[in-house]
Amino acid sequence: MAASTPATPIDRSRMPRVEIDTAALKANWRTLDALNVTGRTGAAVKADGYGLGAGRIAAALYEAGCRDFFVAWPEEGVALRESLDAAGVADATIYVLQGVWLPDVPACLAARLVPVLSSLAEIAAWCEGLERAGTKAPAALQLETGMNRLGLDAADLPIVRAAVAGGTLDVALVMSHLASADEETGQREEQRAVFLAMAEAFPGVPRSLANSSGSFLGPDFTFDLTRPGIALYGGRAGAPSEGRLKPVASLTAAVLQVRGARAGEAAGYGAAGRLSRDTRIATVGLGYADGYLRAASGAGVPLREMRPGATAFVAGHSVPVLGRVSMDMTLIDVTDVPAELVEPGTRVEFFGPNVAIDDVADAAGTIAYELLTGLGRRVERVWR
Ligand SMILES: *Cc1c(COP(=O)(O)O)cnc(C)c1O
Repeated sequence: MAASTPATPIDRSRMPRVEIDTAALKANWRTLDALNVTGRTGAAVKADGYGLGAGRIAAALYEAGCRDFFVAWPEEGVALRESLDAAGVADATIYVLQGVWLPDVPACLAARLVPVLSSLAEIAAWCEGLERAGTKAPAALQLETGMNRLGLDAADLPIVRAAVAGGTLDVALVMSHLASADEETGQREEQRAVFLAMAEAFPGVPRSLANSSGSFLGPDFTFDLTRPGIALYGGRAGAPSEGRLKPVASLTAAVLQVRGARAGEAAGYGAAGRLSRDTRIATVGLGYADGYLRAASGAGVPLREMRPGATAFVAGHSVPVLGRVSMDMTLIDVTDVPAELVEPGTRVEFFGPNVAIDDVADAAGTIAYELLTGLGRRVERVWR
């Protein structure tokens, strides 16, 4: 048998690093909690805690007093439960914002996850899963109040109420999501009114509407539970947050070389960095493969021409992406695709044989390299 290569230590001191200040994280949570006079303050820890590490983030926030955590997918919830169990935390609630489908009900039950159900089909799947498992467990409901992204419509509510009355559905929380929490468009007041009206169908059930920026809108918006994300991590959350949140994540990398260059010379690929004076240049070991976006290139580097939006491909049709891509979801306009061809479960190509990766990159003001190197860890790699 061949001897295995001995583990030789690597000196990581010159490698890129993101430092996470858990004291600042906890302080931000406490700031939001102090603003919230109507209910509890939760935390969005989806996408691996906004890329920082959901387990450590949640453990720190738990110490600060947080008991309600929101992830996007069941898989993220299972991982978070394992890590909270390992930390000896037993009384945290983990909500799964994108809900659950039948095959994952057992995993959700085992990890005591609370799925946020957004359609009648999803409610039916959850109830069937509970019946098969011979058990009962609480779920949350997402109400669609004007974002047109995910949620039950008012017309669905009589059926949902019947399921509650019949004892098949136990609703622990009703929630909705603000589309313009940080913008004075009037939409948040409209959404709040729709939310209040819809939530009346579930008397006595706790309610949740506010994300980070919503948490700064006062007692009309905080209800029984808030779901801040970006503010906890030190990101701006609308004008009222200014100066009240501490930076949490600090990305650092080491200089690899410093060199002198003359006015008139150029720096980097494509000779894009033209030097107008004699210049000292430090070359630092951090790039777009680390997530430092190529679109952040220096002033005057021609990368930022505005292009039409991206196109996707579904059921034989090219369709436009609609509105802003959000953290876990993207909207596409399928108006021109026959309705029976697009339903929950239909797969959409965002690049591949029908959508050139470079066309997507052009639309994003970036390059195909960045799309590929930026593919997240939660994107499954399937080899064919
Ligand atoms: C991501 C998300 C949040 C947190 O949003 P922030 O803007 O980061 O505070 C809250 N609720 C839902 C439904 C989300 O998807």
